[in-house]
Amino acid sequence: MKLKVLGSSSAGNGYILQGERQTLLLEAGVPIAAVRKHVDDFRTIVGCLVSHSHGDHAKYIADYAKAGIHIYADEDVCLSCKGVHVNSLTILEDGDQFRVGGFRVMACSANHDVPCLGYFILHDEMGSLAFITDSHDYQYSMTDLQHLMIEVNWSEELLRQAVDEKRTPWFVAKRVRETHMGLHNAINYIQEEVSLDALREIVMLHLSYENSDPRVFTEEITKAFQKPTFVAAEGLEIELKR
Ligand SMILES: [Zn+2]
Ligand SMILES: [Zn+2]
Repeated sequence: MKLKVLGSSSAGNGYILQGERQTLLLEAGVPIAAVRKHVDDFRTIVGCLVSHSHGDHAKYIADYAKAGIHIYADEDVCLSCKGVHVNSLTILEDGDQFRVGGFRVMACSANHDVPCLGYFILHDEMGSLAFITDSHDYQYSMTDLQHLMIEVNWSEELLRQAVDEKRTPWFVAKRVRETHMGLHNAINYIQEEVSLDALREIVMLHLSYENSDPRVFTEEITKAFQKPTFVAAEGLEIELKR
């Protein structure tokens, strides 16, 4: 299974899980043209899982649905999908388990300022994967997890610096702290809830432009867990081995 990153920031999020015969999309926050560059035959796309209603994750849902891609998302997202036929949508709730082609998926609530879902995904070609974004912390334990995609948006040091230098207003910093996963929350979560035995790699998602440092974050996560660690950015491709 290949993971291809189309975008991973507040400018737009999109990820492709591309198997031998089937492709699953995560998020609809990048234009469909970006998906077309990687998928010749859209009939191989079994669906698109969307985390929440913010534009950087959901802006292009109508275009995806028009192209015949089935959308899986919570009620908050589906209610905001004007012009999308109800047959193109599956409304999810926390704890729902379902199949999308050969992918088995479980939706698990995240902690953001709007309803938000993380996804736990199984497929014969990759084993297990967790996708957690836009969530200041996370409460689910992950045993036997092989692939972790997790938001690492900010660090306290850089956020404080941005406020001191007046690049970020204090109320924006407050929202960031309360709604997005910081470096130390991510490290704490992985330490406490993720069993590392089977974990092959960690992919850091949705790094902030102002409040993150990809090099430092990679060093810190690598030091903490001794696993290959990647920064999700447009163009990144990783082979997700079983
Ligand atoms: Zn976001
Ligand atoms: Zn968001």
